[in-house]
Amino acid sequence: MKQLIIAFLIMTMAVTIVNAQKTIDRWNKNQVIAHRGAWKKNNLPENSIAALKQAFKLKCYGSEFDVHLTLDSVIVVNHDPTFLGINISKSTYNQLLEKKLSNGETIPTLENYLKTGLKQKKTKLILEIKPQELGIQRDALLTEKVLQLVRKLKAQAWVEYISFSYEVCKDIIKNEPNAKIAYLKGDVSPEKLKADGFTGVDYNFSVYQKNENYIKRFKKLGLSINGWTANTPEAIKFLISNQVDYITTNEPELVFDLVNQAAVKN
Ligand code: MG
Repeated sequence: MKQLIIAFLIMTMAVTIVNAQKTIDRWNKNQVIAHRGAWKKNNLPENSIAALKQAFKLKCYGSEFDVHLTLDSVIVVNHDPTFLGINISKSTYNQLLEKKLSNGETIPTLENYLKTGLKQKKTKLILEIKPQELGIQRDALLTEKVLQLVRKLKAQAWVEYISFSYEVCKDIIKNEPNAKIAYLKGDVSPEKLKADGFTGVDYNFSVYQKNENYIKRFKKLGLSINGWTANTPEAIKFLISNQVDYITTNEPELVFDLVNQAAVKN
């Protein structure tokens, strides 16, 4: 009987360890982040659900997208402050439904986007909070609503945050301390980002080229390094050879090819 109990305990422990390992290791292990989804090669609309799904299909580490707040406080996914000519911040969500993306989709809400992301467990959702035309109070409201929705849907493990607004980033660090958060603008030193609680940096690749020791300093501080938006072989190879953690790109297929080529050479 005693032996049986011991065997049962060992089995239970083994299952627990395997499950924990699965949780830790589940995300795709590569450097590729599809910028506004993987849209270009298949001529899909940027920031569409179809482009997000294509990033899953390509097995990207992450799929990046941008969010804005409508006049009636619905969070929608779109790059520009206007959606097919309609000003998002001055329109209701229903008004935005009057126009459709080229593939027939309506403007995705963040809720739909997150729910689509939650159906898979391999590609992260890289959520960019866009500074709002209506000012910093609107930025704060958008940030608060984004964090609320991510919590409500239990999507915290899927989402990483980025923004050009330092204030938005600091708001996230304060209110969601376990979240991964990187700053986009390129004008803050590695040491300050570390001191302010960032987990990573996401600068245009040219910032790393101009500041030759930045990559070394970010690595030393333990910040993850992402470079945007690398679309040419030269820019992509620069980031690969400097062994950055992530490459944000409109050309995810090309980045996969170049990463594989570099791995063969080494
Ligand atoms: Mg973006």
